[in-house]
Amino acid sequence: MNNIKCIGCGATIQTDNINKKGYIDKKVLENKKDDEFYCKRCFDLKHYNKETKIQTSLDEYLLNLQSIKKDKGLIVYIVDAFDFEGSLIYNINEIINSNNILLVLNKIDLYLDSLNRNKIKSYVLKYLKEKQIKIKDIMLMSSFNDNDVKLLFDKIKELNNNKNVYFVGMTNVGKSTIVNKIIKMFTGEEDIITVSNTLNTTLENIYIPLNDECYLIDTPGLLNRNNLIYFLDKKTLDCITPKKYVKPRTFQLSPKQSLFIQGFVRIDFVDGEKSSFVANVSNNVLVHRTKLENASEFYEKHKDDILLYPTKKEREKLGNFVTKKVKFNKDNKIDIAISGLGFITVYGTGYLEVTYFNNVKVIVRKAMI
Ligand code: GDP
Repeated sequence: MNNIKCIGCGATIQTDNINKKGYIDKKVLENKKDDEFYCKRCFDLKHYNKETKIQTSLDEYLLNLQSIKKDKGLIVYIVDAFDFEGSLIYNINEIINSNNILLVLNKIDLYLDSLNRNKIKSYVLKYLKEKQIKIKDIMLMSSFNDNDVKLLFDKIKELNNNKNVYFVGMTNVGKSTIVNKIIKMFTGEEDIITVSNTLNTTLENIYIPLNDECYLIDTPGLLNRNNLIYFLDKKTLDCITPKKYVKPRTFQLSPKQSLFIQGFVRIDFVDGEKSSFVANVSNNVLVHRTKLENASEFYEKHKDDILLYPTKKEREKLGNFVTKKVKFNKDNKIDIAISGLGFITVYGTGYLEVTYFNNVKVIVRKAMI
């Protein structure tokens, strides 16, 4: 076996130590029908693409986190800066209450450049403190910005103390985009080895060696079943997913007026003083104002033309309507955050009712920005 080399990286193939270069599982080696060998690392790298994204159950996911905890490596915990609460991992605090976490707020490009990033950072740090979640460091970034990815990679090297680095996060936070860019950055190549059809794709953590001692480990994303995007078809997703910065749109509402955020959410301003409602949702999403007294009729009449989305099929999956009652006042600027869609900031004084589909997470929080 001494002479067998991996086609991908040239390492001598061995079956003894998964943590060393050139490792192949014994069974894979025995069942090999040709003489083209890929070590596990190159195989995993090659198959690191969308198709191998694994959806795990919550139980499996939590088990995986337990084993990560034991390893005491650095945890790069990626969340969506535009859907912060909606992209947090349920219970992570109880499992990994360590200060080994580098919290990455990705998709920061969705906020206007003029926004003071420290506002978001302070909001998040306050949130973490209240929930007693300890972290080692925090970073705001966009995976579309190569310099940000480089800064992240440098930060990882600074913090990991030559220990393993685990990437964790819910699905859709941009984890694949980041890991792909990091792989490209440190291998210098986009497509390292050719696809082997003879092997099965791997359904586990993906190991990418950082050096002889430690790995960068991409863990399967946890599917977010409370996020709007879980229920939507591609066409609808294309409409509601912001591709570039979101232009906040302000509506001055008087009491007894309603706002529809496409057909996903309806906000009824029931009582109070004239107030501002700022929609931080994709520029393509329709925000429509009506009189409260006409709102129900308007919805029934126009859910499939003016409001357009969600479609009938999507509505069936999204569940029944529920209504949240919300009070707000001048000293308490709030956001109504809809997981997967964005958030509506409300300032003024009054009382409103938010109606939404019960399978989607909607929270009311102190305004983030
Ligand atoms: P994963 O499920 O966490 O691996 O997420 P992906 O990397 O597949 O990204 C999910 C979606 O978010 C894709 O449409 C990406 O193009 C988009 N995305 C990823 N990173 C960013 C980012 O930094 N900014 C913006 N605006 N979108 C991003």
